Amino acid sequence: MDCIFCKIINGEIPSNIVYEDDVVSVFLDVNPQADGHSLIVPKKHYNNVLDCDDQTLSHVQEVVKKLYPIYRDRLGCEGLTLIQNNDYGQEVKHYHMHLIPRYADDDLHLETKLQTKNIQEIFDKLK
Ligand code: 5GP
Ligand code: ZN
Repeated sequence: MDCIFCKIINGEIPSNIVYEDDVVSVFLDVNPQADGHSLIVPKKHYNNVLDCDDQTLSHVQEVVKKLYPIYRDRLGCEGLTLIQNNDYGQEVKHYHMHLIPRYADDDLHLETKLQTKNIQEIFDKLK
């Protein structure tokens, strides 16, 4: 399969692997949004969250909980933002979780809010 993350996991493409076990590989993002921006990537190819089995998803969360204190201690980050894109906005179609360390006064604008809110209309569609 022509998948860049499968190639990284198979060792065909180099990467900076910071953690690895039987289920996932965690490596530094080549184009980071913050120092230590990492990707938790299952070793098996899943396209997106719908495709990925619950055991693997749960394991990804366990790895988040394992790594967060280590990132806090070693990188001195103040927090950790988790992002997981599916389909739209997903550059690499191999399921992965972004770990984005957050630092005081960093210039990431991940908290951008909508200018016009239509909460009731959206609620009517979703409830
Ligand atoms: P997505 O948009 O799919 O959620 O995120 C894909 C991420 O993979 C991006 O942040 C991008 O910088 C990163 N990325 C793309 N190609 C490579 C690569 O060859 N090596 C590494 N380490 N990261 C990559
Ligand atoms: Zn893949």
